[in-house]
Formats: sequence, structure tokens, C-alpha cells
Amino acid sequence: LVARRLPSRNRFYADLSQCLFDFVIQLLPTQEEMQVKEDVRKLLERLIRTIEPDSRLLSFGSTANGFSLRNSDMDLCCLIDSDERLSATDLVIMLGDLLERETKFHVKPLPHARIPIVKLTLDPSPGLPQGIACDIGFENRLALENTRLLMCYAMIDPTRVRTMVLFLKVWSKRRKINSPYKGTLSSYGYVLLVIYFLVHVKNPPVLPNLQQMPPLRPITKEDTHVAGYNTWFFDDVELLRTRWHSENNESVAELLIDFFRYYARDFSYNTGVASIRAGLLKKLTKGWQNDLSAGRYHDSRERNRLCIEDPFELDFNVGRCVTKDGLYTIRGEFMRASRILANRPERAVIALADLCA
Ligand code: ATP
Ligand code: MG
Repeated sequence: LVARRLPSRNRFYADLSQCLFDFVIQLLPTQEEMQVKEDVRKLLERLIRTIEPDSRLLSFGSTANGFSLRNSDMDLCCLIDSDERLSATDLVIMLGDLLERETKFHVKPLPHARIPIVKLTLDPSPGLPQGIACDIGFENRLALENTRLLMCYAMIDPTRVRTMVLFLKVWSKRRKINSPYKGTLSSYGYVLLVIYFLVHVKNPPVLPNLQQMPPLRPITKEDTHVAGYNTWFFDDVELLRTRWHSENNESVAELLIDFFRYYARDFSYNTGVASIRAGLLKKLTKGWQNDLSAGRYHDSRERNRLCIEDPFELDFNVGRCVTKDGLYTIRGEFMRASRILANRPERAVIALADLCA
């Protein structure tokens, strides 16, 4: 009879935490995959330099922020260190032609998109069973900075932060709520929700607020502003690790359960804006109300259902793609996850399988 009793609460948390680590570890990219991607980056950089000699091609997004899963796509950004450069539109057209001629990639240039990019895919091969998908954009310096910010957050508490983020990325993909084009939220949006939760909701916090820490030296506007936005944050993680210790000792499992409960029940979707820079803000003060039907945008009612402030581009709602139905589905998924975990099933591994089923 004793053996059949439900494991105690702490036992369940320990089991579930272990299962979460084991689960995400097997989904990390292999060394080989990372090497292939780095080789691809170098090859593309070499080719781009035949058009723009002073250019650099840098990784951003998951390949560069520590939240990469196996077979995730590559986000690349081309920076041109010269004053006389081609427009992004012209570059996309020229680069598209060049890559079409010189490489085995399938090339799709989108020169007239809001952000002009070249989309590339490589067919699967024995060494690369899933192929490669890659987007090349231009001069997207803010994306490089927000990638660096997320990477610093990941490094402060790698075990808890990376495990939570990686699990939520897999979960949101498997539950089909990770498609901005279909009205749900991007991976970037989910990462911001996790960081917001760990900085501003948990008490004591699991992470410090890197954008509000006192700088070590006086800073000037010139070295903090990128594209007109203040991108300063405390980025000396090594120093931070010696100076800052979280008083929060909850396990990954407890944090995850609380995360689901918070976004299922407590976050004020109707009036609130999640800001990792400033905590909970009001839609009203940001001018992001839902009911601006007579406003500038025809679809403004859809635009601000779920409000997540970009860490640097403060006038940009990262959740703007989330529609009414999308938010309903996402919240439904948070509730479902919360319910599955609240039942504390006898075996944590079954709970995880259930969650992602
Ligand atoms: P995945 O592994 O699912 O591709 P990812 O970590 O690469 O996840 P994405 O959502 O693909 O995340 O975003 C990649 C990068 O693009 C982000 O780090 C961010 O710099 C930028 N980005 C993506 N979506 C937005 C957005 N809505 N607003 C601003 N920047 C964004
Ligand atoms: Mg990506």
C-alpha cells in the first residue's frame, strides 16, 4: 500500500525536474550540426563579400542565444561597415541571383517585404537529415542586441532558464501555438514571457533586471543607442555571477508549474503589457488598447490582444500577431498544462509525455 501512495510533493518536483533536464538534453543540437551551420555561415559570408566587400554575416536568434533546439532554423544578419552601400532591396535581389548560381540552396529572395530578406533551404542529405532553413536579413542591429540580451539571461542561471525556455519551445511547437503567421506567438515571444516571469513575477526573483542595473562606468548616448533605441543592459555576466545571487531556490519543475498557472489565470491579458524592462505596464499608457477600432490600423483590435513589449524597441508589441482566436488557444494550452501538472501524476515522465502529446 505504501508503495502505491502518490509520491510526496517534493519527490514529484525532483522527478519532474530530472525528467525535464533529460527531455531537453536529447533535443539539443549535436556538435556536428553546429559545425555544419557555422560552415554554412562562413560560406555565405564569403559569397556576400563578393558583392559588398566590407560586410559581415552574423548569427542571431536561437543559434546565437543559447536556446537552440536540434534542426532549428538559422537566422543570419548581414552588417555592412561602409557608408556607401546598396539598399537592402537591391542587395536581396543581387544576393538571390548569386546564391542561385553558386550554391545548391533553394533561394527565395523577398526584396519587397517589410524587412527584405533572402530565404534559403537546403534539401536533406545523409549528413543533414533535416536539411537547413536559413533567413538572411540586413542591418538588423536590434535583433543582434536582443539576441545578446537573451544570451546573458540564459548564462546567469543556465540550468533553470535554459531548461524552462527549451521545454516551452518544444511544447509550444508540439501544441501548435508557435506560429505568428497563424495568429499565435513566436519563440521570441515565449522567451520574453519566461524572462518576464522570472524577473518580475517570481518573488524572490530568479533573475535580476539587466536593463535596470547600475552601470559600472558612466555611459553616453553614443555607446548605448542602436537605430535610435536605448539598447544598454548590464552584460558583464562573469562579474554578475560573483555579485548577484538569487534567493529563489525553486526547482525547474516548480517554476514551470507556476509559469503555466500564472499565464493561465493571473496575467492581466485585457489591460496588461509584459515588459522585461519595466515590469507590468498598462495598455492604456502605451496606447495599446484593444478597442481602437477607429484608429490608424484597420486591424488594430487584433493587434494588441497579447501585449509583450520588445526589450529595446519599446513601441513594438512582440505579441502583435496574436489574434483573438490565437490567444484563446494559447490560454487554453496554458490551462491544460497547468491542469496536467497540478494533478501530480504518479510518474513525472508520463506527465511530460502528456503535456506534449
Ligand atoms: P526558433 O528556434 O523557434 O527559430 P528563435 O530563438 O530563433 O526560435 P525566433 O522567434 O525565430 O526565435 O526569433 C529569432 C530572432 O528574431 C529573435 O531572437 C529576435 O531577435 C528576432 N525576432 C523574432 N520575432 C521577433 C519579433 N516579433 N519582434 C522582434 N524581433 C523578433
Ligand atoms: Mg529562429
